[in-house]
Amino acid sequence: MTVFKTRVPNHFDLPRRINRLGELAYNLWWTWQPNAQRLFAHVDGELWERLAHNPITFLHQVNRSSLNEAAQKTSYLDNYDKVFAEFDAYMAHKGTWCDKNHAGFCDGSVAYFSMEFGLHEILPIYSGGLGVLAGDHLKEASDLGLPLKGIGFLYAEGYFSQRISEDGWQEALNNHLNFDNLPLLRMTDDDGNDLKVTVEFPDRKVSARLWEVRVGRIPLYLMDSDVPENAPEDRKLTARLYWSDINFRIAQEVLLGVGGVRAMRLLGHNPGVWHMNEGHAAFQILERAREVVETGKTFEEAIEITRVNNVFTTHTPVPAGNDEFPLWMIDKYLGALWPQLNLDRDEFVSLARNQQSWGETFSMGVLALRYSDGRNGVSELHGRVARKMWNFLWPNKAEDDVPIGYVTNGVHTPTWLARRMGVLYEKYLGENWLENHDDPKLWEAIDNIPDAELWEVRNHLKRKLVFYMMERTRRRWIKGGFHPVQAIASGALLDPYVLTIGFARRFATYKRANLILSDLDRVLGLLNQPNRPVQILFAGKAHPADEPGKQLIQEVYRAVKKAENGGRLVFIEDYDMNVARYLVQGVDVWLNTPRRPNEASGTSGMKAAMNGAMNFSVLDGWWREAYNGHNGWAIGDDVAPDTESQDESDIASLYATLENEIIPLYYDRDGNNIPAKWIKMMKNNLRTITPQFSMRRMVKEYVEELYIPAKAK
Ligand SMILES: *Cc1c(COP(=O)(O)O)cnc(C)c1O
Repeated sequence: MTVFKTRVPNHFDLPRRINRLGELAYNLWWTWQPNAQRLFAHVDGELWERLAHNPITFLHQVNRSSLNEAAQKTSYLDNYDKVFAEFDAYMAHKGTWCDKNHAGFCDGSVAYFSMEFGLHEILPIYSGGLGVLAGDHLKEASDLGLPLKGIGFLYAEGYFSQRISEDGWQEALNNHLNFDNLPLLRMTDDDGNDLKVTVEFPDRKVSARLWEVRVGRIPLYLMDSDVPENAPEDRKLTARLYWSDINFRIAQEVLLGVGGVRAMRLLGHNPGVWHMNEGHAAFQILERAREVVETGKTFEEAIEITRVNNVFTTHTPVPAGNDEFPLWMIDKYLGALWPQLNLDRDEFVSLARNQQSWGETFSMGVLALRYSDGRNGVSELHGRVARKMWNFLWPNKAEDDVPIGYVTNGVHTPTWLARRMGVLYEKYLGENWLENHDDPKLWEAIDNIPDAELWEVRNHLKRKLVFYMMERTRRRWIKGGFHPVQAIASGALLDPYVLTIGFARRFATYKRANLILSDLDRVLGLLNQPNRPVQILFAGKAHPADEPGKQLIQEVYRAVKKAENGGRLVFIEDYDMNVARYLVQGVDVWLNTPRRPNEASGTSGMKAAMNGAMNFSVLDGWWREAYNGHNGWAIGDDVAPDTESQDESDIASLYATLENEIIPLYYDRDGNNIPAKWIKMMKNNLRTITPQFSMRRMVKEYVEELYIPAKAK
C-alpha cells in the first residue's frame, strides 16, 4: 500500500481566533449546514454572494478588517464555536446509524463510481439529475456513517455555463476551472509526488493524477488526465463532461472503470461492494476480473467471484441513453485487455454484444446487467420498464421475473431544505427532527405548524426567489450588451405576490417543456387575469450537441419575449444547483411534463415538496408513487395509443386542472389573506413526501437491499 497524504492547504491569513474557517472551506460538510454557511456570509454577505458561495476565494479576498471585526463579535464567535463543536463531533462520531445497525458491514468499504457528482455549484462536475443524485448519495452516506468512497473525474472545464442570445439560442461558455480556488486536495505520496493511476490502451498509456474532495466523512477521489506524460489529446480526456466525440467517450469510460479500480487499490481500499451509478463505469467489472485471472483463475471463475460484489443502478428507460460502442472501437481501445482475461476477441465481444439497427455493438448496459448480482432501476415504474426492456438478457424468464429491482430515488434533505423551513420543523416536529426525518410518524405532527406561520415562511421564500432573480438581472444589465427584452425575459418584472409555477430541468424533447405553452393565447390570458395572475419560470440547459433540445429552448424563449405576457413568463439562464435551490424553495407549484414512461424517476419535485411547493406532474417516475390525490396534482391519467394523442390529452388535463383547481385554490383567501385549503394540501404534501422521498430512506434501502447482500456473498 502506498502511503499517501492529502494536505489541507493553510494559505489563508486568518485571525487566530477564527482560523479554522480555512479547514472548513475544504470540507463540503459546510454546504449542508446553514449555520456553517453563515460563518462566511456574516463576515461579508455581499462578497459571499458575489463569489457565488466559494469559501476559498472568499477567504482569499475578504478584507482582513471584516475578519477582525467578526473575530471580536460575541454573536459571531458563539456560532463559530457551536459550528466547530458540531463539526468535530460529526467527524469523530462513532455511533452512526451504520455502526448501530450494521456494524459488520460498516467495517468494510463500498466503492461508488459515477461519471458526474453534483455536490455544490462551485464544483461544476455535474450536468443534471444523475450527478446531483450521486452528490446527494455521498452526503447521506456521510450522515449515516457508511464506509463509502466515491470515484469520478475532475473536469478541467467543468460543465458549460449557459447564455441565451436575444433570439433565444443557447450559447455554451466553457469555463476553465482554477483548481487552486476549489475545495480540492492534491493527493501525493510521502515525498510529495502526485499519486497517479495508469491504464493501457493498445497503442499507448494514459495516466491520471488523483484529487480528493472531502464530503463530510466521505472521500471522493477525482481523476485528472492533464499530466505532462500524456499525449496532448489524452490530456484533454477529462477536460469535459460528456464529450460528443465517441472516441473520447470510450476512453473516458475505460479510465473511469479500470483507472477507478486501480485508484482504490493504490489507496489501500479493498471494497466489498462495487456500485456503478449508471453503465459508464461498467469496465470496472473487467478490470476486477483481470485481477483475479492474474492469480491463476479462469475467466469464468473470475467473473463469478467478482459479480457477487457488483451493484448496478440503471437510470434511463431510453435505449439511446445507454452507452453502446461499435465493435471497431472495442478493438481500438480494449485490444490490450482480452488477452489478459484469457479471452479471444469474439469471446470478449460476446460479454456485452448487442444488436442495433445500425449494427452490432458492445453495450455497457448489457455488460453491467450480466455481471452484477445487484441490479436496480430508480422508481417502481422504472423497475418495471427496465425488466421489460432487458428481458432479452433472460430469455427464459417471464417479464415479471427478470432480476432487476428498484430503489426509488430520494434527495438529501439538509442540502435542499430552506433554512427557515428547517427552523419551523425544529420548532414543531422536535429538536431531533433531522435525525429522524425519514420516519413518517414524525411528520404526523405537521399539523401543529400554525397556518399563518407556515404561510409567512412560504412568502418569505418566494420574495427571496424573486429578488434574487431581479438582482441577477440587474448585474447582467450593468455589465452591458443586454437587450431590454432580455432583461424582462430574465425576470425584471417578476412579482413576489402572485402564484408562481416553476419548470426547470434538462431540455430534452421527451420532457416537453413547451407543453404548458401549447395554447399560448390561453396561457397569456391566465397570466394576466386581473385578480389572480400567474407567473411561470423556466430554466434548464440542453446538451450542446442536442439540436432539438436547443430548439425547444428557443421555442420557449419566443413565448417569454412576448410583450403580452407582461413579464410573467421568464427564462432563468444557467440552471445549476444554486438556481435550483432558489427555485425549489421559492415557487408555489413545481411543474413536470415528461412523456410517460421516459422519466425514470426525477428528483427536483422532491426538493420542491419538502419546501412546501406542490407538484403538478405527469404520473411518471417518482410522482406515480407519491401522488395520493390530496398532496399535489396529476396531469393526465391514461396511457394513450400514440404520442400525439398522449400529448393532446395531457394538454387538456393540464389546462383544466390549472384553471379549475390550482389557480382558484391558491387565491381562495380567508379574512387574514391566508389560503387555508391550499395550506391543508401543502401539509399533506409535506407529511407524505418529505420522509418517503428523502435520500436517507433511499441510502438505507441501498444498504439493506443491495450493499449488505453483495458483501455477504
Ligand atoms: C435536482 C436537479 C436536477 C434533477 O432534476 P430532475 O427532476 O430529475 O429533472 C437537475 N439539475 C439540477 C441542477 C438539480 O438540482
